Order: sequence, then structure tokens, then C-alpha cells
Amino acid sequence: MAKKDFSIAVFPGDGIGKEITKQALKVLTFLNGKINIDLRLKEGNVGGAAYDIHGTPLPPESLDLALKSDAVLLGAVGGPKWENLDYAVRPERALLDLRKKLGLFANLRPVAAFEELLHTSTLKAEILRGVNIMIVRELTGDVYFGQPRGVSKKTNGQSIGINTMIYTDEEIRRIAHHAFEIARNRKNNLVSVDKANVLESTELWRDVVTEVGKNYPDVNLSHMYVDNCAMQLIRNPAQFDVILTTNLFGDILSDEAAMLTGSIGMLPSASLGADHSMYEPIHGSAPDIAGQNIANPIGTILSVAMMLRYSMNLPDEAGLVEKAVEQTLKDGLRTKDIYQSGDKLVGTEELGESVVKNLRNLFN
Ligand code: NAD
Repeated sequence: MAKKDFSIAVFPGDGIGKEITKQALKVLTFLNGKINIDLRLKEGNVGGAAYDIHGTPLPPESLDLALKSDAVLLGAVGGPKWENLDYAVRPERALLDLRKKLGLFANLRPVAAFEELLHTSTLKAEILRGVNIMIVRELTGDVYFGQPRGVSKKTNGQSIGINTMIYTDEEIRRIAHHAFEIARNRKNNLVSVDKANVLESTELWRDVVTEVGKNYPDVNLSHMYVDNCAMQLIRNPAQFDVILTTNLFGDILSDEAAMLTGSIGMLPSASLGADHSMYEPIHGSAPDIAGQNIANPIGTILSVAMMLRYSMNLPDEAGLVEKAVEQTLKDGLRTKDIYQSGDKLVGTEELGESVVKNLRNLFN
């Protein structure tokens, strides 16, 4: 039987984006000969790299490539070079536009503590053991997209900056169903995070999530204020199974949760919509370490595993990629961000090659 085609738009972006994406591509290139799907990889420009050439962070040909592909793999965008540009053409705008135009409303951010890295976190190992959280962040609403927004001058000469925190019941319902389905396939435990005590938009959030929850009597739903959740993630992270939250709160909580794994460089993400999907590490372009071959590529490689699981329906192969990463950590290989005395310090390239080597062993 002929192999099915699967096209991937690859956007390395800026800063460490290029280095880490290169390692993920090594994994995809290896997999291409091993899985029952023909991967078609096509690179495009987004972010500052695209702005420098086209004067826009998301040129029409890149958007077109993303729309026509089965999935997008993205590195990271942004950097000091573009910090003074107007918001409308800043590199980060490419991300927001991709999310909106591809309809990627559900952002999945798994946070799992690797046994080998328990001692690299700033938290105590006994607090971290067994941590396995799925953060489900709404991705196309909230203050990032709400109108009105902007900075303007009032008649009295004062400047005001405005962003609008806004959700419709339909947007909340859609992401809530997604999160309940995910909880069903895990430990049936869902914590919805809001600030319903002071913010009306999240009062609606709580009401709608509660209403949706009636369809999932097998899932244990509870609600938590975001400030408490920020504290509980540090106090007792193992209490969480699935966390469902808004765009803004999810952005912040998932960076906090990243430290449970030792480094922000470890965390992958999947952004899913009805027709499209995008995979990227949760970190940014890390301009402070770009071009030095020291960035951790694991978040990007694990994003490929998520692509195999969620977009290609290849959960076994996804598991093998995760196992290959685990083996690399077991072998003691570490990039600088997760290095401790006694480990083998390696660069971005060497870590990527080690994962492919371990993957090859697992397939043999
Ligand atoms: P960042 O995530 O780029 O970096 C924060 C810190 O984590 C830095 O010290 C960095 O060196 C370190 N770090 C990040 N990824 C790492 C990795 N893979 N390996 C080792 N260390 C890593 O966040 P920032 O410094 O706040 O932002 C830098 C730029 O990235 C900004 O322009 C920002 O807007 C942009 N950004 C982009 C995305 C994205 O593309 N999805 C997300 C967040 C920030």
C-alpha cells in the first residue's frame, strides 16, 4: 500500500530557533525512513527573520505554506533587534497571527519531571517526583486579541495603555470540552484556573466550565484562583493532573511549571484547532545564548513527539521519541541549562545527535 503523505511547514524563526529546529529536523529525517508516512518538509520564514527580508513577520507565502501543510513546526521568534518596532510588525505578531489564522484554540503543554533531572530543579526532588501535568491553555482569546487595545493620549495630556480581557461563552465551551476529553484519557482530574473573584470575564469562564462539566460526570472538576494555582504549583505540583486556563494565565503558569522540569528548554507544546496544528517549544528565542551551540533542543524534539501523537496518530512512535530523549538523559548528556557537576556537558548538536542515535537503537 502506498504511504500516506504528511506535509510539515518548518519555521525556525529567530535566535536559538534555528539551532533547536535543526535538531528536531534530524529526528524527523530519521523517522521519515522508518514510519508508515511520507514526511514532506518545507522551510519558511517567520518572525524577525521574515521582517528583515519582507518587512512583515508573517509574509503571505509563509501563511500560505502553513495553511496548506498538515502541521507546522516552529522554533521561536523575537529578539532585541526588533524590540523597537511597532507591535503590528514585531516578530511575536507572527505567532499571534498564525494561531488566529490557523484557528489554533487549544494549547497543550505537558509538564513531566524526568527522574534524571529531579536534582537540577530549584525545587526539592521529593516535591517533584511523579509530577505529570497537562496544561490546557486557551490560545485565541483573552487580552492578546481583545479590542480595544493600544496606547493613546487623553485630552488632558495623560497617556493610557489599554488591553481588553474578553471571552465569549462559545470560546470557553470549545476549550473546556477539549480539556475534559483530555482529562478522561488521563486521571479524570481537571482544575479550571480563573480569577472569578475579581474579573468578570473569568466569572463567565467558571460558569461555562461548570456547565460543560455536567457532560463529564466521570471527571472530577474543581476551580482554583490563578494566584493560588501559582502558589500550589510550587507547594505541591503532584496534586495536578489537567489544568485548564485562559490565554494570559496559561502563558504565565506554564513558564512557572517549566521550572518543575529543571529548565524551560525541556517543555514542548501542541497548538490544535479543527483543521490545523502547530508544534513548538514553550520558550522564546533566548537571544542571550543564541549562536553558541548551548541551547537545549529537548523541548523542540518533544514537540515532534507531540506531532506524531496528535497529528499523525502514531502514539507508539511518539513514545519512542520520548524514550530516546529519556535515554540521552540517562546516559548523562546535558546541555548547560540542565548541567550539574558529574554530568557530561554537551552542545545542542551533540544532544540532538544522541537522541537520533538512541532512536535508531529503539527502532532496531
Ligand atoms: P526566553 O524563553 O527566550 O528565555 C528566557 C531564559 O531561558 C533565557 O535566559 C534563555 O537563555 C533561557 N532559555 C530559553 N530557552 C532555552 C533553551 N532551549 N535552552 C536553554 N536555555 C533556554 O524568554 P525571553 O528572554 O523573555 O524572550 C526572548 C525573546 O523571545 C523575546 O523577543 C520574546 O518576545 C520572545 N518569545 C518568543 C516566544 C515564541 O517564539 N514562542 C515565546 C516567548 C518569548
